[in-house]
Amino acid sequence: MNPILPGSTIGCLGGGQLGRMFALAARKMGYRVHTVDPTPDSPTGQISDQEFNVPFTDIATLIEFARGVDVVTYEFENIPVEALDALAPRVALRPGRDVLYTTQNRLREKRFLQDNGFPIAPFYVVQNEVELREAAQALGCPCVLKTADFGYDGKGQQKITYESDLTAVWKRHDAYTGVLEAWVPFAAELSVVVARGQMLVEDDEHHTLAFPPTVNEHENHILATSVAPAPLADSILARAQSIATAIARELDVIGLVAVEFFLTKRGDLLVNELAPRPHNSGHYSFDACVTSQFEQQLRAVCGLPLGETRLLSPVLMRNLLGDVWANGTPDWSGLLALPGLRLHLYGKSEPRPGRKMGHYCVLSPTLERAREIDAEAQRILGK
Ligand code: AMP
Repeated sequence: MNPILPGSTIGCLGGGQLGRMFALAARKMGYRVHTVDPTPDSPTGQISDQEFNVPFTDIATLIEFARGVDVVTYEFENIPVEALDALAPRVALRPGRDVLYTTQNRLREKRFLQDNGFPIAPFYVVQNEVELREAAQALGCPCVLKTADFGYDGKGQQKITYESDLTAVWKRHDAYTGVLEAWVPFAAELSVVVARGQMLVEDDEHHTLAFPPTVNEHENHILATSVAPAPLADSILARAQSIATAIARELDVIGLVAVEFFLTKRGDLLVNELAPRPHNSGHYSFDACVTSQFEQQLRAVCGLPLGETRLLSPVLMRNLLGDVWANGTPDWSGLLALPGLRLHLYGKSEPRPGRKMGHYCVLSPTLERAREIDAEAQRILGK
């Protein structure tokens, strides 16, 4: 397969911050970028040569978009399957249509993981209140009801603490199929981004390379911070990388796949979720690794050699949500005066609460020092 070289045009489905940082990496290496996103002036569109502002159901425009690009990748999963089916025969779609089809639905994703022997929390499929009740009795409370489709950042999730809440929970569920999952009282959450390229190495194996794992903390189901190197035993990190790499192979990904894990108090790793794209917990790599997850996505989908993923410095990444704007424009000058702090803003004009507006990375000689500077940054932001 001939590599897609600099000067070529990459198509990106989705115009959010992941696409923006991908486009920045692509532009840096001399590629052109075309984006599809329904909303004009999207974070990715701002960095692109051309932006198609149509819904993903506008197949005629998608076909026109496909004609102008050498390969198509994506930065979010909720792309209708009809759009993928229209694109797949016309242009290289990487990762492929089946990868997206599996991972855009929680149930298909869980079945894929289960069928291939990857460790996950026990779950039941529920389609009515009676089934929910039976499943909750089997799993015990607490447990968590999730919608099968279109969930991210905890959207469509309800934690069930008491069986007496089941009727109200089902009423709020507002979807046909649900997945009821056992609550995992985890010791930590971690994630690994893996790239799988097209360069064949020995034994006809695709080149697969994991980034250093991060330990992640969430607030209100939204990622708040990620740190690397993950402060966990090397044996756990190696296991997480090896499971994530095996998932990339089994899914036959060309591009990236991010794997989120729970580390149980007994030291077991359970896979929580997959995403076949760059991941919020991998943002640290933009500042702190030899190759970022975005450049790695570019290299993988273009059939180029993957870059080294070595961590250059301890790093703490923190998301900046719209809440930070509660009292007007944040004190960016104060923040930028802090040593080792690198600011990323996504070009979004409306800072709604809970909306991811940007992030910062703090690079320091030790994680402890990075945490001190983060605490100072939080104070400056009025947190
Ligand atoms: P998800 O959208 O499934 O990744 O869930 C978002 C966050 O909710 C996770 O990162 C966890 O912090 C929490 N969460 C989701 N499912 C569970 C579970 N089964 N047990 C414990 N915490 C969970």
